[in-house]
Amino acid sequence: MSLSEPVLTRLQEAVGPRGFSTEPADMAPHLEEWRSKYHGHSQLLLKPATTAEVSAILGICNETATPVVTQGGNTGLVGGQIPLHGEVLLSTQRLNRIRSLDESGMTLVAEAGVTLAQVQQAADDKRLLFPLSLASEGSCTIGGNIATNAGGTHVLRYGMTRALVLGLEVVQADGTVLSMLRALHKDNSGYDLKQAFIGSEGTLGVITAATLRLFPKPDIAVTALAALPSPAAAVKLLGAMQAHTGGMLSAFELMPRIALEFVTTHVEGTRDPFSSPSPWYVLMEATGGGHANLTASFEDGLADAITAELVTDAVVASSTGQAQALWKLRESISEAQKREGASIKHDISVPVAAIPDFLAKAVPAVLAIAPGARPVSFGHLGDGNLHFNFNSPSAGDDPAFLRRWEEVQQTVHDLVKEFSGSISAEHGIGIMKVGQLPRYKSHEELDAMRTLKRAFDPKNILNPGKTVPPVLRL
Ligand SMILES: Cc1cc2nc3c(=O)[nH]c(=O)nc-3n(C[C@H](O)[C@H](O)[C@H](O)COP(=O)(O)OP(=O)(O)OC[C@H]3O[C@@H](n4cnc5c(N)ncnc54)[C@H](O)[C@@H]3O)c2cc1C
Repeated sequence: MSLSEPVLTRLQEAVGPRGFSTEPADMAPHLEEWRSKYHGHSQLLLKPATTAEVSAILGICNETATPVVTQGGNTGLVGGQIPLHGEVLLSTQRLNRIRSLDESGMTLVAEAGVTLAQVQQAADDKRLLFPLSLASEGSCTIGGNIATNAGGTHVLRYGMTRALVLGLEVVQADGTVLSMLRALHKDNSGYDLKQAFIGSEGTLGVITAATLRLFPKPDIAVTALAALPSPAAAVKLLGAMQAHTGGMLSAFELMPRIALEFVTTHVEGTRDPFSSPSPWYVLMEATGGGHANLTASFEDGLADAITAELVTDAVVASSTGQAQALWKLRESISEAQKREGASIKHDISVPVAAIPDFLAKAVPAVLAIAPGARPVSFGHLGDGNLHFNFNSPSAGDDPAFLRRWEEVQQTVHDLVKEFSGSISAEHGIGIMKVGQLPRYKSHEELDAMRTLKRAFDPKNILNPGKTVPPVLRL
């Protein structure tokens, strides 16, 4: 598509000289995403600084049927933030104010372009906690986190982003503003409209600000890495540790041996803390207030798990530095996987108890298609979300291995469906999975999604073609 001169001029005037660019050098970082999988193009980058400017932009876009793609920190992993067909690009970068923080009510109002790390810091400065935690937190934005309903490592305790949002300010497709920045935990006064926008990946409206929930900052964190014989032992350990700590676990991350080997080979400053190898590991964290005897109950739980032969060995961090070193092993897996050559990745979820059976079936199914591929299944076992990844047999095999991508992906996703799981646990649908959705969601669910899309965006100007599959006409 190309923009007519009058539309271009009106959009530029809506944001003033500091609020737009048509320079290729300014646009370049916005047109390619983290994995370099999707490359976009656009004639106009808009950087509104206020909700009123976003409203003016969408008013013009709607009136002139001009498609627009919203972008926050550009860390999305399914291509939703990239203008693939020359759409106008709306960056929330300049919507960057923390509007207020209520210490006693434990809420914070942030504009959409504030980074997750800035929100965490603002809460921390008041000895409060904003528990959303992702490896991309230095760059991703609150608006993007809400638009993707981001997950991360603390979902087990605090829920997905959806559970952390009390209120929203959203500009609708026609430019009207929905001011719903309430700070209420209880509000049953009709439809909870904000829920429609959370996880809608920029297809229903542009989020301009949010009221976020904060929590008391725990003053004790116990972190341990446990060696285990199998994923089945890990599932049992999860139940046992939740019982021992009274539900205080805040993270429970599964890692296979190969992931630890990749990390200690490729990432400086990491080492295997055990003297002998184990097929699986779990990184666990429990947090709480100083009055609770959390450390003792956590260690008792681990000792019981060793007696029950669920765990073969364990290291409990005795300092913040040691805890950080254990977390580094987990957080470096993606980077280490990249250094090992090509990989085929899946972000799936199945019911927690089904994880061992899923792995037992899905790993051989993939190896039958891609012999020699190296399974690297890791992730948030505590909430049933696995990054079910495979590395190529060796760097020399990358092109042949990657040619199997679609076949591998379909096999995995078909098995996910068999296990009543989801083909996207936390990254969303975007452009990457929109073509696959009809295979895995019912006609009725897809029709309901399309009805919602038509209601909020009748001219289909917001992120067209993403997240909501078009109706196939035969
Ligand atoms: C190293 C790394 C680690 C990651 N780890 C995790 C993880 O553990 N868990 C997880 O869930 N994700 C993870 N992600 C994915 C990504 O960080 C999240 O999806 C994040 O929430 C995206 O935020 P963003 O600001 O970068 O959004 P963008 O990438 O800019 O946009 C993502 C989507 O949201 C829409 N959008 C953005 N802002 C708005 C807005 N204000 N209003 C309406 N729509 C908007 C865009 O149109 C797009 O569809 C990771 C990514 C990387 C690179």
